Amino acid sequence: MNFDNSYERLGEAFHEKRRPEPVRDPRLFLWNSRLAERLMISNELRLDPVVRAQAFSGNSMIPGSEPIATAYAGHQFGHFVPQLGDGRAHLLGEVKDRSGRRWDIQLKGSGRTAFSRGGDGRCALGPAVREFIMSEAMNALGVPTARSLAVVTTGETVFRERPLPGAVVTRVAASHLRIGTFQYFAARNDRQALKTLCDYTIARHFPEVADEGENPYVPLIGKVIERQIRLVVEWMRVGFIHGVMNTDNTALSGETIDYGPCAMMGTYDPQTVYSSIDKTGRYAFGNQPEILHWNMARFIETLLPLIHADQNKAVDQVGPVVAAFPGQFEQAFTKMMGKKLGLTPFKPEDRELIRSVLDRFKEKRLDYTATFDLLTQSVRSEAAASQMKSELGHCFDLWQQRLGEQHADAHEIQAMMRQHNPVVIPRNHHVEQVIQDCEQTGKATSAEKFLQVLRSPYEELAQTSGYQDLPGDGDEHYQTFCGT
Ligand code: AMP
Ligand code: MG
Repeated sequence: MNFDNSYERLGEAFHEKRRPEPVRDPRLFLWNSRLAERLMISNELRLDPVVRAQAFSGNSMIPGSEPIATAYAGHQFGHFVPQLGDGRAHLLGEVKDRSGRRWDIQLKGSGRTAFSRGGDGRCALGPAVREFIMSEAMNALGVPTARSLAVVTTGETVFRERPLPGAVVTRVAASHLRIGTFQYFAARNDRQALKTLCDYTIARHFPEVADEGENPYVPLIGKVIERQIRLVVEWMRVGFIHGVMNTDNTALSGETIDYGPCAMMGTYDPQTVYSSIDKTGRYAFGNQPEILHWNMARFIETLLPLIHADQNKAVDQVGPVVAAFPGQFEQAFTKMMGKKLGLTPFKPEDRELIRSVLDRFKEKRLDYTATFDLLTQSVRSEAAASQMKSELGHCFDLWQQRLGEQHADAHEIQAMMRQHNPVVIPRNHHVEQVIQDCEQTGKATSAEKFLQVLRSPYEELAQTSGYQDLPGDGDEHYQTFCGT
């Protein structure tokens, strides 16, 4: 692998140099060959599963890697923790792919670091498989996300509520710069490190703002917000609930990271929460835009010392950016919903139609994915149209009327809707069943079968129907756990 470890070079304030802790009996469980191909992983690594298991458990050092545990802080459920950091992850380094893009290669579950606090530095097989499946599904759905390259079982037991098989998952991301990374230095009043971090972030993710003269930090904020809005709007499109949108789990790259207690919403209800630790529903499906706004404000706060020596003047400069967020989000959200409904071109009056359709979904407790799928079919199927008419009532008529006013024909409308409405998502009950099967059999067969379907989420493959069924209880009693 072609390593070039720019984050390691930032210096010791940013990380602890630390090698992964070897595991007893590493065996390759899941491997993402397409991603491996893109990352130009050497034949030596690609072809031999034993070599891969050694490398992606952390037992052997891949030449060129310089493992570090990165430092960061973060607001967890609204409470600031000045030091978190990679407590069970090692950033092996960065590699460039075929098109010259830089990727972080990180092991998770690879042992203790200076940031482990009371934790064991390990990861159980279930959460590792979950991260692999969910991130691959999200990527295929078109949602920006960190990827998974490998899951290796360790032959060791990790102790959570019960003994579980251990694993190491290899995560590939555009970077692991988090809001919490900025907060770490802001909390220490380390202006120099903060500036280094900001300039690094600009060079790595937002090179277009580097030319903005003396102070590129206000334009940087604008770009970060744009990317985060795009991300969360995409979550809302597919019904994804992150579950733990703490500032340490928000990546500046605009990718979904940290698939802990995440889940997919079944029955449409903005108040849906599945995470067992989210007692107040802070991270409910419909709260995600508001939480993003809050997280963006926390990010912006960290930059104030770089924006102006006089903090009041700095606040004056960023105030309008923060205030513009809700309008900006709403606009991106309604545009996306317009596409789900096949409205083209989008008109401002469409907001009302979107609102009534979603209200009707909620009132009738309709499944988010299945209903949008059926609605897509209803454009050219009498049977689907009559079923939708009975579910949506007057809303359906209004929608049909609106479509009738467009120039686009039924084919075009349906094609557009299909691009935004998947036929299959990683439904919670299937994810759980697959994980259970992996744990019990020690084999990845059911995960591989599921992944094959999830990699074509806008197409009905022969096997797709096996994963489209709705959960018996509408996931009313479904709960996820933090996976630590
Ligand atoms: P998370 O909830 O996965 O975002 O993790 C929050 C913090 O807890 C991060 O600093 C993690 O590195 C740390 N952490 C989570 N699980 C473990 C573990 N098993 N051992 C050590 N640190 C952990
Ligand atoms: Mg985290």
